[in-house]
Amino acid sequence: MNTEPERMKQASSSDIKHVTVVGCGTMGNGIAQVFATCGYPVELVDLSAPALDKAMSTIARNLDRVVAKGGLDQNARDVALTRIHCSTSLAEATQKADLVVEAATENRQIKLELFRQLDQLSPAHCILATNTSSISITDIAGATTRPTQVIGMHFMNPVPVMKLVEIIKGYNTDPLVTATIVEMSHRLGKIPVEANDYPGFVANRILMPMINEAIHALYEGVAGVAEIDIVMKLGMAHPMGPLQLADFIGLDVCLAILKVLHDGFGQPKYAPCPLLVKMVSSGNLGVKTGKGFYAYQEGSKDLVVAPEFR
Ligand code: NAD
Repeated sequence: MNTEPERMKQASSSDIKHVTVVGCGTMGNGIAQVFATCGYPVELVDLSAPALDKAMSTIARNLDRVVAKGGLDQNARDVALTRIHCSTSLAEATQKADLVVEAATENRQIKLELFRQLDQLSPAHCILATNTSSISITDIAGATTRPTQVIGMHFMNPVPVMKLVEIIKGYNTDPLVTATIVEMSHRLGKIPVEANDYPGFVANRILMPMINEAIHALYEGVAGVAEIDIVMKLGMAHPMGPLQLADFIGLDVCLAILKVLHDGFGQPKYAPCPLLVKMVSSGNLGVKTGKGFYAYQEGSKDLVVAPEFR
């Protein structure tokens, strides 16, 4: 049984020695890579063994790129890889955890069930962080008996490259836990920004309506895929157009976030564009499935509009 004094021992990021990352998809593998590169042993856990194999090859490939650019030497790359241990057992992967970062599918029921299990399995002092893009931290924390130790640690995609970590305080998050996660983000070479717990927090409350509007513009025939993206790149100095970014994030993730915004605020302006809904139902989810607004080929850097939008 967890006791309060035991829980409160966790007050500094230097007490965090073992990290568990739950979910090894687009975000989870990047989060594992960043912790491992910074010297932390990482347990990377997923339901799917093939997904774990794919995640390890992605991490190895990404680290190779860092080595080629002179950001890491070969030995540091090899050591970082050996720090990551993969598992399909949540019980095994959380035994020694001081910090869990959950990066599983953006689905409220999945996260509530995961946090109920994480609360039972992980040591009493362990901080339970979620990388959710939009789901209420307070709600997730309510699935545990340690709501003071639950926090949002929202990394950006691609995790090894992007500097920002949005730190979301749940209604009951202990300020010491927030301070620990802020400090940990700095240790990872990131820049943390604190936000309060409202649907979509800051990042996705602003980003997703823009992406949804870009999809509406395409749906209504205002302009084509490439044209919409070029307007936003050249006209607004965005590094990537909103449709390419949606593909990169994952169209299923975009749809899930818009639904959270729509349900949470009850305003029609957040209603997902029917085209986005249809694309997700069809299984065209963007980069991760090889097709979204653009078509992707392994190893090719060319940006080719998907056939149905040409
Ligand atoms: P993804 O679909 O690429 O990967 C999710 C992974 O979670 C899959 O490998 C799946 O097998 C695994 N999973 C599902 N249920 C699980 C469980 N019970 N236990 C263990 N593993 C489980 O998703 P993603 O894009 O990596 O998103 C993960 C989280 O990060 C979501 O909450 C998402 O909102 C958030 N996020 C995504 C982005 C982005 O750009 N994709 C950016 C910031 C935050």
